[in-house]
Amino acid sequence: MKSNGQLQGLEGSADTAHEEAEVREEPAQAEVRGEADDQVQLPSFGVRLDPPAGWAQNARHPMDRRTALKTWSMAALGLGFGGCAARTPPPAPATNPGVALPAVKASWDRVIRTTVGLRPYRPGGFVVKTEPFDDKTIVHDYGHGGAGHSMGWGTGSLAADLAVQHPSRRAAVLGCGTVGLTAARQLQRRGFDVTIYTDKTPPYTTSNMAWAGFTPTSGLVAATGRTPAWEVQFRQAAEIAYRELQLLAGPRHGISWIDSYGMMQSERPQGRRIAAGGSEEGLLPQHLDTGRSILQPGQHPFPSPYASLGLRMRIEPSIYLDALMRDVIVFGGKIVIRKFETPRDLMTLEEPVVVNCTALGSRELFGDDTMTPVKGQLTFLVPQPEVDYIINGLLRTPDGGFHQIGTMPRRDGIALGRTGESGVWSMEPNPDAITRTVEAHIALYDVMRDLRPGVPPARLEASRDIPKLEDFFGLES
Ligand SMILES: Cc1cc2nc3c(=O)[nH]c(=O)nc-3n(C[C@H](O)[C@H](O)[C@H](O)COP(=O)(O)OP(=O)(O)OC[C@H]3O[C@@H](n4cnc5c(N)ncnc54)[C@H](O)[C@@H]3O)c2cc1C
Repeated sequence: MKSNGQLQGLEGSADTAHEEAEVREEPAQAEVRGEADDQVQLPSFGVRLDPPAGWAQNARHPMDRRTALKTWSMAALGLGFGGCAARTPPPAPATNPGVALPAVKASWDRVIRTTVGLRPYRPGGFVVKTEPFDDKTIVHDYGHGGAGHSMGWGTGSLAADLAVQHPSRRAAVLGCGTVGLTAARQLQRRGFDVTIYTDKTPPYTTSNMAWAGFTPTSGLVAATGRTPAWEVQFRQAAEIAYRELQLLAGPRHGISWIDSYGMMQSERPQGRRIAAGGSEEGLLPQHLDTGRSILQPGQHPFPSPYASLGLRMRIEPSIYLDALMRDVIVFGGKIVIRKFETPRDLMTLEEPVVVNCTALGSRELFGDDTMTPVKGQLTFLVPQPEVDYIINGLLRTPDGGFHQIGTMPRRDGIALGRTGESGVWSMEPNPDAITRTVEAHIALYDVMRDLRPGVPPARLEASRDIPKLEDFFGLES
């Protein structure tokens, strides 16, 4: 494989600290960084990844497929094996992958939709607190960034605990996304009669547009926004949410555990890589993350020298949110379609307790100017039931940027990639991101198809013990 100066420069600096520093250079990527199982920097391609001028960006076949595939495939092959020459001995070519995975049939004609959602980011992290408002008591539960699915049950529990301090047991919940629905359930469990008031319901909420892994720290808080009091709330909420989600595993709520692979340029200690000084450092208790194995060259089918293998909880939003709406109704709740234009509109509600789960809506409704959107989009391929693994990794582009590789299979399609555009309110799909995402995945799976498994699948033992069941007893729920 032909190498170039750019590749060699990376080869010589493929240590963890260097990779973290490089990831932090990209603010938009940093917002979504935590959603990846492994923030992997792969060596630069020897070719530009930008689509050639004149590509019809929305076209299903933006360039001759054979040409595109050749370009990307060669580049992808280069990133795994050409990238380790300078300081690390070159890994053996992966001719004998220990793990055999059914390939995703990535192609333009299997693209079925692109979705856009605006993550409700708040630099100070989510808000769970009580605020008196004329004769009403407002309990806030909003600002979950890229972690609303992961944290909703937990912050909902904290919010409901604040609500029970009011003598009334009638509550209005504003918002019908994952945070509003889980808060509603937590209130019902505490004996509240709940009505959800909302502008939009699933399938039209941001919560429906999520990648939706268990990513409790993802894009949640700025490093400078963390306070000791907030961290206490975070840990309480994360513990609760982790257990609640586990208990809902199964087809009815669309929650499952799934193997998650990360393509890795170098062998590193197991566990999620958290950048020193970053917003996530030291935030998540270790027992809320399952362990990782490191797959050596030849033990995996990816075009990278190493791979990590861990387990991730997967939430399928279209199943999960529908099931939660049904649960709310089964337990006597109501869902009323209504948009609130100003805070004064709240005074017309009959319920004395109002739980605010309006996410970005809190900016207008409650004047929280710190709420900012982080636009994210996913492109979906036709579902393949046999594909039951996640892949994550970062692709380094020659212009110094990154492209996120991500595959999340679900019953309603295989979600590819996810973007993070800070401060962008537009709900229009970004055609350039679609092109890059689809082409990158076509290249990846084309390369993976060529690596024939020669031995039965072998899985390395996790070096860190998976927490014992007992560790989860006694936690607040
Ligand atoms: C691409 C992408 C990937 C993601 N990946 C993950 C992930 O892997 N894991 C994870 O945990 N999270 C992930 N997220 C983040 C997650 O989707 C959000 O944190 C979550 O959806 C926030 O939920 P919410 O209920 O607060 O907001 P929303 O889903 O936006 O719901 C807000 C509700 O409030 C209502 N509302 C707002 N204003 C008003 C008003 N004035 N009047 C009446 N109703 C109002 C809306 O209609 C809506 O029903 C991802 C998000 C995106 C976009």
